[in-house]
This record gives sequence, C-alpha cells and structure tokens, in this order.
Amino acid sequence: MIKELQIRVSPQVASQQSLLRDFVGREQGIDARTINHVRVLKRSIDARQRNIYVNLSLRVYINEVPEDEGYERVEYHDVSDSRQVVVVGAGPGGLFAALKLIELGLRPVVIERGKDVHERKKDLAGIKKIQAVDPESNYCFGEGGAGAYSDGKLYTRSKKRGDVNKILRVFCQHGASLSILADAHPHIGTDKLPGVIEAMRNTIIRCGGEVHFQTKMTQLIMQEKTVTGVIANGKEFLGPVILATGHSARDVYRYLASADVRMEAKGIAVGVRLEHPSELIDQIQYHSKQGRGKYLPAAEYSFVNQVDGRGVYSFCMCPGGYVIPAATDARQIVVNGMSPSSRGGKWSNSGMVVETRPEDVGGDANDPLKMMLFQERLENDCWLQGNMKQTAPAQRMADFVNGRLSYDLPQSSYTPGLISSPLHFWLPQQVSKRLQEGFRMFGKRSHGFLTNEACMIAVETRTSAPVRILRDYDSLQHVEVNGLFPCGEGAGYAGGIVSAGVDGERCAEMVNLYLS
Ligand SMILES: Cc1cc2nc3c(=O)[nH]c(=O)nc-3n(C[C@H](O)[C@H](O)[C@H](O)COP(=O)(O)OP(=O)(O)OC[C@H]3O[C@@H](n4cnc5c(N)ncnc54)[C@H](O)[C@@H]3O)c2cc1C
Repeated sequence: MIKELQIRVSPQVASQQSLLRDFVGREQGIDARTINHVRVLKRSIDARQRNIYVNLSLRVYINEVPEDEGYERVEYHDVSDSRQVVVVGAGPGGLFAALKLIELGLRPVVIERGKDVHERKKDLAGIKKIQAVDPESNYCFGEGGAGAYSDGKLYTRSKKRGDVNKILRVFCQHGASLSILADAHPHIGTDKLPGVIEAMRNTIIRCGGEVHFQTKMTQLIMQEKTVTGVIANGKEFLGPVILATGHSARDVYRYLASADVRMEAKGIAVGVRLEHPSELIDQIQYHSKQGRGKYLPAAEYSFVNQVDGRGVYSFCMCPGGYVIPAATDARQIVVNGMSPSSRGGKWSNSGMVVETRPEDVGGDANDPLKMMLFQERLENDCWLQGNMKQTAPAQRMADFVNGRLSYDLPQSSYTPGLISSPLHFWLPQQVSKRLQEGFRMFGKRSHGFLTNEACMIAVETRTSAPVRILRDYDSLQHVEVNGLFPCGEGAGYAGGIVSAGVDGERCAEMVNLYLS
C-alpha cells in the first residue's frame, strides 16, 4: 500500500529515515518494519516559535518498494541532422534553451566566451593571488554563467511564466540531489553545481549539439532587421539566435546600442554584501543561544522595507557561505555570495540593496545604457577606494549606521582582503541613507541583527540587468529584429537561475514556432 501524509516533526526526526519510519508507524498504528521507504515530497522548516518543527509531506511505501526515482525524466534524442539554432551564452538561460531545443528536435550550437566549468575555477582562484580579474573568465563569465559558482538557490517568486518543477527535474536528471524537489527553499551548492553543469553539456554534445568555449560573439549577422547568425572569433555560426549573454556582458549591450537594436534602461538594486557570523544568525533566527544544533541547516533570513519611496531589502542570502569577488573587469570591485551544499561556513551573508530607478541617477534620460554606466562608475569608485586591487572597502554595520569609520574590521570570508572605508560617506547618498534607515528597522525587528560583529563589504551592483532588450510579449522575438530572441537575465526577463532556465525553455519553444 502507498499512503500520502502530512506530518509535523522535530528536526531530529526529520533528519533520519529510520526515525521517520518509527514516527509514521506510531502515528498510523502500523508496524514500522512493514514500511519499506518514506519519500519526502515537500519539506519546510517552521521557525516562527521557540520550538522548531519541520513540516513534511510524505509518500509512505507499506509492504511496497518504490518503482521510480520520484520524478519524470526528459528524453533527449539525436538531433545531429536537424535545423541549427545558435545559443549565445552557456549560463542557465542558454543551457536550458539548448536542452529544450533538443527536446523539440532542433540542433543547438552553443557559443560561450569563457572557459569550461573546471578550467574556469583556476581563474577564480587566481583573483585572490594576483588581485586581478580575467575579463573573459571570472565569476560571471564561463560555462554555467553567473550561476555556476553561487549558492545555487533554486527558488523563484515568478511562477507564472513556466514550469519551475521541470527545471528542478532536469537538474536532478543531471546529478543534483533529489532533495531539491522537496525543499521549500532548494539549493545545490557551489561544490555540486560544476558537475551538474558538465553533465548538461554532455547531454547537448551526445545528442549532436555543439558547445564552443572561449568563443566570443562580437557581431550579429543582420540584414534589414533579420538576424541569420552571429560572428564569433571571426567565424560565422548560422541560425536564429537566442541571445543569453547575462547581466554583465557590457560589450554586448554596447554593440547592440551601436547596431540600433532597441533597448531601454532598467532599474536595478545597489548596495553591499552584509556578513555576520553564521552562529549569530542561527541564534537569532532559531531563537536559541545554542544556535542551530545538530539537525537544523544554517539559518536564512529575509528582510524588506520601504524607505523614502524605495525598497530596501536583503538579496540572495548565502547561509554558511562566502563573499566573493564577482567583477568582470580589472578596474572594478563587485561583490556577491556563494555557499557550498553543506552551508557549513563560519559566516552568513546577503546582499543588502536599495531599489534604484533610472530617474534616481544622473545622465541622459533617453540613453538605454545609463544604468549600466552608473553601475560601472560605482564599481570603479569602489576599486579606487580598495587601493586599485580586489581588496574590498568595508565597514562594520553599526559604525555605518552611526556614520563612524571602523578602526578595525572583523574576520571575513572574502579572501582577497578588506580595507576599512567610510561607506556612509562615499556610497551614493540615495543608497547609503536608505541602507542606514533600513538597517535600523531590521535591527528593531530582529534583536541582535544590527551589530558591529557584522561587516558590510562594497559594492553589490550586479543584482539584475541594467538594460532591457525589448522583445515581443508573445513571440519573444526582438520587437524590431526578426530571428533574434533576447533571453534570460541579461535581456531583462529573469532574475535568478531558475527563472533564467524557464526563460531559456520558452525562447527555445518560440524559436521552434519561428522555424515552423
Ligand atoms: C556569485 C553569484 C551568485 C549567485 N547566486 C544565485 C543563487 O544562489 N540563486 C539564483 O537563482 N541566482 C543566483 N545568481 C544569479 C544567477 O546566477 C543569474 O540570475 C543567472 O545565472 C542568469 O542566467 P543567464 O543564463 O541569463 O545569464 P548568465 O548566467 O550571466 O550567463 C551568461 C553567459 O553568457 C556568456 N557570454 C556573455 N557575453 C558573451 C559573448 N559575447 N559571447 C559568448 N558568450 C557570452 C557569459 O560568459 C555567461 O556564461 C548568482 C549570481 C552570481 C554572480
């Protein structure tokens, strides 16, 4: 017999099959020895009260053995002789577009400016050693895109546009843990993501698609507003184009502007990475001096408030993670966060950012690149403050709120190093004033959160694309250029790994319609 149940148990019971079996046996009045397997379908932690519970939705196999893995696999067939589609960018948008093209019987040719996911890792390690960033191989560029060395959080607030579960299933099919199908806040972890991404690439190649690394698109092949391919490394790649180049490909935005491809400036969020000892966050969020104990994961938090007409909020929280240097050019500092699957690090960080609209910054109101130029200036200012290295300017949190320079800084996970700097003074006032007020509000809501044990590290600017490449709502084709499908975060239509994946799939479907 197979039974589905909803239960609420302690974190310890939730952590082990044998304890779960005993619990279910007692609850249901059956002999636990007859339960062959308990499959967790959904799992969420309820940490609102002092006593913490885990809510589980279960499928219980009584005198039965599960026959499947618990999810539907996608069949990928050979497409070697099929029509070709060019996919620019091997981030989640591009990779999911390529896999969907195969499902639809089309042959993807993926062009990626960076290196494969393993080679890329050496350049990331080099940032700390040589204090410089390789403009073609970094935390944003290379196989897997910006999502490869991240926390691998897989939740999205936008559920209306596509099948989020399908994206999770495809990740599982390529090696991600099945727990991502159950967890309320699933994540893969930076140690596991490269293997998953490599497996996705292998599927593309096995089915007859192509993946070209260190191959940078510099031009669209375009005649009378119809795109028929791209030029990369001086070579032509022909087919309709899914352009999934991410939020950091500024050369692509500049090229599109020069080629008269219509775009508009888009609002972003700007601020810092805030890093606390993870123990402190655990104590606050789990309401206990003992912190998370043996059975709970590193605690998450989420804050949002309006200050003076703009949102101030936490972004991309990485419990037990690291702050990383995510610039794409030598003369910039940009920070972001990632965490391993265990989330076992000594610190927990998140972006703390302020909504910034095109009208909030100076410059030409009609310039589609004005927000990108604002980002660029700020990242360069930050690099100058950081002694023209990847050493990031930083300030203790309470010092920042009180407008005081920090005489020393706490230890940090940011390996290129920190330098004390008055962020309250040189960050744009519309950002620093709102962050100060936002932190006061968050500190009132969560006792102990506003503390000098926490460190702010500047500057977080790559929260989303500063540009929207305008596309038709239904066909997903560019509004004026046929055969061009702007895709994913860089085009302004996604904000994370899953939503970029969903958008990649949708673009592939629309290319299929375009070709039929
Ligand atoms: C450090 C970090 C941590 C993050 N953590 C998370 C997280 O935990 N969860 C989450 O949901 N999101 C996270 N994000 C955001 C997420 O990674 C992005 O939203 C997502 O990767 C966007 O996917 P994309 O495919 O649209 O673009 P990208 O991932 O940016 O991929 C674009 C790709 O295009 C390539 N490219 C650019 N220009 C060219 C060119 N001219 N020719 C050829 N190739 C080109 C780039 O090298 C890159 O590989 C994180 C981002 C960073 C930087």
